[in-house]
Amino acid sequence: FPTVTVLAIPFVNTTAATLLSHLQNRIDQHQNTFVVTANPEIVMYAHQHADYRRLIQRADYITPDGVGILDGAKILGQPLAERITGFDTLQALLSWGNAHHKSAYFVGAKPEVIDFLRDILPDRYPDLDIVGLRDGYFQNDQDVVADIEAQQPDMVFAALGFPKQERFIANYRHVTHGLWMGVGGSFDVLAG
Ligand code: UDP
Repeated sequence: FPTVTVLAIPFVNTTAATLLSHLQNRIDQHQNTFVVTANPEIVMYAHQHADYRRLIQRADYITPDGVGILDGAKILGQPLAERITGFDTLQALLSWGNAHHKSAYFVGAKPEVIDFLRDILPDRYPDLDIVGLRDGYFQNDQDVVADIEAQQPDMVFAALGFPKQERFIANYRHVTHGLWMGVGGSFDVLAG
């Protein structure tokens, strides 16, 4: 995709629908993929933390998750096509995954949120293969990563908040041949 760079972050300049079809193709082809849906807080944090910025820059797709980023791009004279949010992308991938019998691993949010999702997600997405649902307050990454590696999910959704979720994904994404995306507070919204 063409990109528009705002504060050293290269954003994909495309529509949500086009991005989604690319992500779906990559999942079908078992390509390792790291998606960052960057809101203005993430952009500001990356601006101030070079290590986090470099880690974000290695993502395959960075989407503008906030009108502030669209405004910034417009001021630079390089308008972005549209806002692409983490929550919308998550929902779209879950619906598509359900329709195509894909597998998904959910890591993040509080234990009670995960317990609730364990109840409702199979009803909402009966044909999605939910191979992992665990809260984001673990002490030892290795247990979680070993489980993700064993399950080989098509999609891993990490709701650990930033910068934790991007650091986690950057460290461990290569244990699968699928998609990894940080989704912030989206599990709380899914459960809400
Ligand atoms: N979270 C987590 N582990 C942590 C810290 C946070 O699982 O160590 C979860 C938290 O329960 C919430 C999400 O990460 O579900 C962060 O949501 P928030 O809206 O604060 O983050 P943002 O969307 O701004 O990244």
